[in-house]
Amino acid sequence: MKPPKISTKLTLFYTIVFTLFLAGVSALYYNLLEFQLDKALRDDLEERAAALRGYLNFDEGEPQLEYDASDPEEANFITIATRYYQVYDATTAAMIRRSPAMEALGFQYTSEEVKELVGLVGHSDISSIQTEQVSLLIHSDLVRAPDGRPYLIQIGASLRPRDTALNQLFHISLWLVPAGGLLGILLGWWMAKRVLRPVKALGEVAQEIGISQLHRRLPVRGSGDELDQLAQTFNEVLARLETAVGQMQEFTANISHELRTPLTALRGEAAVALANARSESDYRRVLESQLEEFEKLSRMVNQMLTLARAEAGQIQIAHETVDLSALARSLAEQMEAVAWSKGITLTAELDGKVMVVGDSGWLEHVILNLLDNAIKFTQESGRVRVSVSSREGDAIIEIHDSGIGISPDVLPHVFERFYRGDPSRSKELEGAGLGLSLVEWIVKQHHGKVNVESQTGHGSIFRVALPLAHPVSPESF
Ligand code: ADP
Repeated sequence: MKPPKISTKLTLFYTIVFTLFLAGVSALYYNLLEFQLDKALRDDLEERAAALRGYLNFDEGEPQLEYDASDPEEANFITIATRYYQVYDATTAAMIRRSPAMEALGFQYTSEEVKELVGLVGHSDISSIQTEQVSLLIHSDLVRAPDGRPYLIQIGASLRPRDTALNQLFHISLWLVPAGGLLGILLGWWMAKRVLRPVKALGEVAQEIGISQLHRRLPVRGSGDELDQLAQTFNEVLARLETAVGQMQEFTANISHELRTPLTALRGEAAVALANARSESDYRRVLESQLEEFEKLSRMVNQMLTLARAEAGQIQIAHETVDLSALARSLAEQMEAVAWSKGITLTAELDGKVMVVGDSGWLEHVILNLLDNAIKFTQESGRVRVSVSSREGDAIIEIHDSGIGISPDVLPHVFERFYRGDPSRSKELEGAGLGLSLVEWIVKQHHGKVNVESQTGHGSIFRVALPLAHPVSPESF
C-alpha cells in the first residue's frame, strides 16, 4: 500500500484536532450550562420557599397561605410559587393540601417517603420528582403549628425549561462538531497545499538536476524559514558534488593525458623498430628503453591507484608508535647513494627519539617522497638536509634543499594532483605530479600539517608537523 502523503496526514491531523477541540468545548459548555441552570433553579426555589414562609398562617392548626389577592404583584408571586405545591402532615404522613397542577400529576408520596423527607429537611432540602408528564425539582420545608405539630411543605419547579435549553445545546453540538470536522478538512487541505507548495517547487527543480547540471541551484526565497535552510543545505551539497565531480573529471582527463604521451612514444618506437630489420643489439636497446618507460608508467599507475584508493577511504592507517628519528636516519642512509651519484651532499640532523603514533610504511613514504623531490630538484654540488625535532607538542620533519626552488606562482599549487611546476623542466625530471598530493593525504591522515617555503634559485624547505605520541595512551590517536 502506498504510504499516505504529507498533505493527507496534515489534513487528517487538522480534522481530528478541530473535531476534538469542538467536541471538548461543546461538552464543557454543556456541563457549565447544566450546572448554572441547576444552581439558578435551586436558588430560585429556595428564595420562593423563604418568601412563602412569610405568607404562612395556621388556621385551625393547619398551615394556610394568607395574602392580599387584590395586590397583583403578591397574587402573581403566590400563583407562580405555588404552581406545584403540597402540604403533608409530618406526623401522620397524610396529604393535607396540594395545588391543582400537582394534583393533575397524580403523584403522592407514601408515608415512608414522607418520613424520609422529613428526616432530610435541614440537610438536603432539594429532591426531585419524576412523572410521565414532567420532572420537578422539589424544595421541602418543615414548619410547626403553634401547637407544635409539624408539617412538610413542598414547592416545586418544572425542569422542562432547563432540559429544553440543554437539549437545544446538545442538538446544536451534534451539528457543530461534524461541521467543525468538515471545516478542519477544508482548512487542513488548504494549509497543507499552501505549506507544501514551495516543497513541491523545490522537488521539481531538484529533479531536473542531473550529473551534468550540477552548477544549478535550488531557489532560495529569502524568507529564512526551514525550507530556505533546506534549500541552502541542498545547494551546499550540490556545490560539494560539483567540486568532487569536477575533480573526478579533471582526474580522468589528466590520467588520459598522462598516459597518452608515453604510450604514443612507446608505440612510435616499436613501429620504427619493426619498420626495418635490425640487429639483435638494436632490438635490445629499444626494448631496454621501453622497459624504462614501462617502469615509469607502472609507477605512475600505482601512484594513481593509491591516491584513488586513499580518496575512496579504502586505505587503513596503522596506529603504531614510530620513532621518526630512526626512520629518517635509515631513509637518509638509503638515499645517500642516489644523492652522491648526483654530486649532492645529503646530511641528517636528528634529535633523540621523536615518537609519533601512525603508520611507519606511510610515514616512510612521506620522507622518501620529499627527499626524492629534494634530490631531484637540486643541482650538482648542492645540499639536502633532513632534520627531525620536537616542538610544542609536535614532531617536526624538515627537508631543506639548496635546489632550484619554486616560483611564487607555482608554490600554492604544488600539493595539487598532477601539478608539475615547470612542464619543460618536469618532463625531463619525469614526475606525474602526484607525489606531493599523496604526501599531503598521508599527513592529514596522521592529523598533521605539511607546508613549504621556497624561493626561486634559493632552495626549498618542506615542513611536516605531526602530533607527538602521548607517552601514556597512544590509542588516543
Ligand atoms: P612529481 O612527482 O612530478 O615530482 P610532486 O607532486 O612531487 O610531483 O611535485 C609537484 C611539483 O612541485 C613538481 O613538479 C615541482 O615543480 C615542485 N616541487 C616539488 N618539490 C620540489 C623541490 N624540492 N624543489 C623544487 N620544486 C619542487
